[in-house]
Amino acid sequence: AEPLLQATALRKSYGRTPALDGADLTVRAGEVVAVMGPSGSGKSTLLHCLAGIVQADSGRVCYRGRDLTAMSDAERSALRRTDFGFVFQFGQLVPELTCLENVAMPARLAGTRRRAAEAQAAEWLARLEVGEIAGKRPGEVSGGQGQRVAVARALVGSPRVVFADEPTGALDSLNGERVMRLLTDAAHDTGAAVVLVTHEPRVAAYSDREIVVRDGKSRDLEQVS
Ligand code: ADP
Ligand code: ADP
Repeated sequence: AEPLLQATALRKSYGRTPALDGADLTVRAGEVVAVMGPSGSGKSTLLHCLAGIVQADSGRVCYRGRDLTAMSDAERSALRRTDFGFVFQFGQLVPELTCLENVAMPARLAGTRRRAAEAQAAEWLARLEVGEIAGKRPGEVSGGQGQRVAVARALVGSPRVVFADEPTGALDSLNGERVMRLLTDAAHDTGAAVVLVTHEPRVAAYSDREIVVRDGKSRDLEQVS
């Protein structure tokens, strides 16, 4: 099948610090790909380039046949809202909003009316086994609950790709594995692909395929040239 998302020869430096130095990655529809490698190797930068959050200095990112690097900022942010979901480790939930409102937010931003968005959000919270905390604020729930809320929020808009950067990094291993199981089951059910950054083999074990980044370089043996 056509790749859904394909990065080719990405390079990116922050000033004089090289973060990516020729990174390749292919993601097919519905596939869970784990991006592994030591701290500072460029995993997060690769994820951010794939998601169109960071612009590479050179190289290409193709999403469903369109070159993300050639789009305007407005086109890229519109695409992120409709097609991508995000799970990050820190500071990701809005503290002033309830968990339900947090989960409903991406659907609201994509133009869904409040009632419908909140109904979808409630369904996702229930599916992630945290329906009972819908009315609480993020500061009032545990780390594991908060992370499930974050996963619900990433999935609510039925994205084609979910980007997850150390989604279990703040959790103990039992909670981490629960969150990974819920995330990958939900992705398989909805057909979403997942790009997962992790340094934990136990977390990467939930993926269909692993890619290793070292010194800003990654090789993807599945790469279609
Ligand atoms: P990883 O996710 O594998 O830990 P990163 O992609 O976060 O790696 O970082 C790769 C390199 O780029 C590191 O040397 C890091 O310090 C540097 N880096 C990442 N983001 C920035 C930034 N916003 N500004 C400056 N340097 C950065
Ligand atoms: P990770 O745990 O994913 O490797 P980091 O803790 O390295 O992430 O980075 C967290 C945030 O700080 C990211 O947004 C990254 O881009 C930024 N960052 C990382 N390294 C640097 C750096 N040397 N200078 C400035 N910002 C950085």
